[in-house]
Amino acid sequence: MPTIDGQRVVADLRRLAEFGRHKTGVHRPTYSPEDVGSRHWLVDRLREAGLDPIIDGVGNVIGRHPTATRRLLVGSHSETQPYGGWLDGALGVIYGLELARAFSADPDSAGFGIEVVAWADEEGHYSSYLGSRSYIGALGEDEIDQITGRDTGKSLRAALTDAGFAGRPRERVEPGRHIGYLEAHIEQGDTLDASGLRIGIVETIVGIRNFRITFIGEQNHAGTTRMVRRKDAGVAMVRLATRIHDGFPEIAGPFTVWTIGRMVLEPNAPSVVPGRAEMQVQFRDGDPVHLDACEKCLLALVSEADRSGRCRIEIHPIARSEPRPMDSGFRELIEAAAEDRAPGQHMRMPSAAGHDAAVLSERMPAAMMFIPSLGGVSHHWSEDTREDDIVLGAQIFADAAHRILCASG
Ligand SMILES: [Zn+2]
Repeated sequence: MPTIDGQRVVADLRRLAEFGRHKTGVHRPTYSPEDVGSRHWLVDRLREAGLDPIIDGVGNVIGRHPTATRRLLVGSHSETQPYGGWLDGALGVIYGLELARAFSADPDSAGFGIEVVAWADEEGHYSSYLGSRSYIGALGEDEIDQITGRDTGKSLRAALTDAGFAGRPRERVEPGRHIGYLEAHIEQGDTLDASGLRIGIVETIVGIRNFRITFIGEQNHAGTTRMVRRKDAGVAMVRLATRIHDGFPEIAGPFTVWTIGRMVLEPNAPSVVPGRAEMQVQFRDGDPVHLDACEKCLLALVSEADRSGRCRIEIHPIARSEPRPMDSGFRELIEAAAEDRAPGQHMRMPSAAGHDAAVLSERMPAAMMFIPSLGGVSHHWSEDTREDDIVLGAQIFADAAHRILCASG
């Protein structure tokens, strides 16, 4: 079996975190000088590990194995959120690097190749999952022409030119080259940390449904309009919001999360009865049954509020993504590897955040493994994980990759 070097994994993570270090976290937006520097650093490490690394036309770093006959693609993204953590994305990339080294030193792994990838812009500084979408052929040149930076307004073309990546070929998935894709990641929530468990085996990456609800009342004077004749769109909105938050726990699944993250009153003035209001309701789950139950409940609450209240209420779906199940064979082998090294200390769970593995799963078998996030903190510079969890996770991930490659023959 391939054996990882835990101290080397931690040292590489700490070195990578020096690119754009901010307090104990990292500020490394896609195509910033720090991001470009970290990608060149990774190329050197992949070459030392015996791979043939390249940076492609959108900044994906890919290390190919020169001789292997059975190959797994392993990695994650390497840019960070603004003032984000040192492990989000970086963990999966450095695990990939360590697996490549451990497999090449392992006599039982002859013929097996770990090919390592650091995707560009999963975090969406320009466009979410940019690198992995490019790799599966879901990003056209015309779309690249249109994209501008979320915070900078800079065109993606200009950013790629400044980074030195413009004009390079974009790598594409090669049918038959890889047995599948594996991604390790910090959980980012607190499910593992709160239950004292050390490994999460991702069953699905959640689906998301998002609705806009509009309340139409009558705008009028806040002094002269008697209470009995008001049609206050704000009152209708907060009443329905309360019913949603009271009603969803009755019908939701154990992992369902729901959010009313946007509320707007019109005209939003202290002495005016709101004539119109709008809110967005979003819910996420890995199981379509729970998503359907939430949707049914939401539609029923809206129609009841519309019938019984003084304002007209309309609901429109505005975004919908389906849950992406991870490959069941890979999941079982990750679970077996976890049970071997950490008996009883692992669990199956959905991923409540999106990941490149969801994109890759459209073109090849894909699976994900989580390690705990201390206190469930992520997308913040204080994000952290215990060092022994980082080391244990790397070995279990290597064992799982080995089992998957063995089972593929
Ligand atoms: Zn991430």
